Amino acid sequence: MMSFLFTLVISFGLCILCASAELQRFAHSSKHDGSLSFLVLGDWGRRGAYNQSQVAFQMGKVGEKLDVDFVVSTGDNFYDNGLTSEHDNAFEESFTKIYTAKSLQKQWYSVLGNHDYRGDAEAQLSPVLREIDSRWLCLRSFIVDSELVEIFFVDTTPFVDDYFTEPQEHKYDWRGIGPQKPYITSLLKDLELALRGSTAKWKIVVGHHAIRSVGHHGDTQQLINQLLPILQANNIDFYVNGHDHCLEHISDTESPIEFLTSGAGSKAWRGDIKQMNRKGLNFFYDGQGFMSVKLTHTDATIEFYDVFGNVIHRLTSSKLLRSSM
Ligand SMILES: [Zn+2]
Repeated sequence: MMSFLFTLVISFGLCILCASAELQRFAHSSKHDGSLSFLVLGDWGRRGAYNQSQVAFQMGKVGEKLDVDFVVSTGDNFYDNGLTSEHDNAFEESFTKIYTAKSLQKQWYSVLGNHDYRGDAEAQLSPVLREIDSRWLCLRSFIVDSELVEIFFVDTTPFVDDYFTEPQEHKYDWRGIGPQKPYITSLLKDLELALRGSTAKWKIVVGHHAIRSVGHHGDTQQLINQLLPILQANNIDFYVNGHDHCLEHISDTESPIEFLTSGAGSKAWRGDIKQMNRKGLNFFYDGQGFMSVKLTHTDATIEFYDVFGNVIHRLTSSKLLRSSM
């Protein structure tokens, strides 16, 4: 009897371990023709200022043309310091009342950026916001699964040591994170497990911070050391981020991964690009804009738009081409 009980306790314990090792997963079916399209925006919430409204207007037009299935936000959702609480009216002033086009009335999948962690980070994760605007879905790390593509959203802010050791005048809301190292170790383990088990045609990872960037903040060393090897080992197609207020496309020099920055949702034109001659750099635009992604079973088309809706860079990738190489 005792050993039976013991076994029960052990298996129950293991089950809890299994459950905690899985990132929350959201199913989002693709279109009837098997394709899927979405927009990517980052670094935006400024109550319409710094061309946020103009970018939103163009997103509405492109969203309609592509009949987008959802929108991805790469974080820094609300400036300057996230939300003060789940009742902060910045949520409506910077989100609900800005992205009003019919084509944008879809699910928004969002991660947190460093500026979001400077406010009440947990407010953005709260179901209360989803009651105010049902489009909103923000979690720390999670997966959107459409079978054609799996999108892995990763909470990158806790990777950056400086936010812990040299926060300067900022205060970061680390509630729910606990000590930095175990949080990252466990997150990377969960992510690796999910990536290894993925059978999706396309694999995309979304985080707030860039792995590679020639913009203001540049590369994020902790992500190069800890996240990149896992992405390279698991055949990721695209790593998508914000943080630098620009639009950018850099090819990895060590793998087929393409690094795509879409962090130009409002304030931009910083003017401090570095390493213009960097190997793998295909495109850099310092101004406002956003990005679209269209996927089929064989092809990916990614386009970057400026504040006038002009396509200023296009990237195409084919699975047929790759498998025949
Ligand atoms: Zn940022």
